[in-house]
Amino acid sequence: MTLKLYEWMMQGSMPVYTSLSKIGGGIIEGIYLSHLLDQGDKLEDGWLRTSYEDIYDALRFTKSEYRSARQKLLSRNLITEKRIGIPCRIYTQLNREQCNLHLAGEHKHTNTVADFVRINAALLNSLSRAGWKRAKSMGIHADYVSYADVFLRDKGVCGLCGASALHSIGQRGDDTQFDHVIPLSTGGLHTLDNIQVSHAVCNLRKGAH
Ligand SMILES: [Zn+2]
Repeated sequence: MTLKLYEWMMQGSMPVYTSLSKIGGGIIEGIYLSHLLDQGDKLEDGWLRTSYEDIYDALRFTKSEYRSARQKLLSRNLITEKRIGIPCRIYTQLNREQCNLHLAGEHKHTNTVADFVRINAALLNSLSRAGWKRAKSMGIHADYVSYADVFLRDKGVCGLCGASALHSIGQRGDDTQFDHVIPLSTGGLHTLDNIQVSHAVCNLRKGAH
């Protein structure tokens, strides 16, 4: 980090809390949480306007940073969003209780398999659809497989390492993913039997072999 950036962080109006980056799963997520904490505090109801233009004005996020930060924070249940008006504006509120649990490192014990499926319902649905479409587009036999069902069947346990994968859905570290037991590239099918819960890191390791 350059000294200039460090000075900016120390003197700037918006502190970037290291611990918020840790619970958010990245620096961009940490900056977003800091912004919500800082600006949301000044509002009576805590609902901050967070359409892309608002976030671009405040934080200069790119569209993909904006999208992935929100997805990550929603999947960790750290924020709640609502849409108001036509054209719709997005408003976001910080889930303080969940943030405190994450900061205290207690989230891994409090998240149950049922909680995880409930919190991530929308994301699990869209991943299920995307996985189905992708397999079909490859000309592979593909059933519609509900990843929520896979997660419940596997009780949230990674089929590759045997540890629980109850943190959040994503691309890094102990994030949850869904793995084809026999890879599609080696003749595996997109069926309930052939899909299991895995950590991102375990999936990556398997792919490298
Ligand atoms: Zn694993």
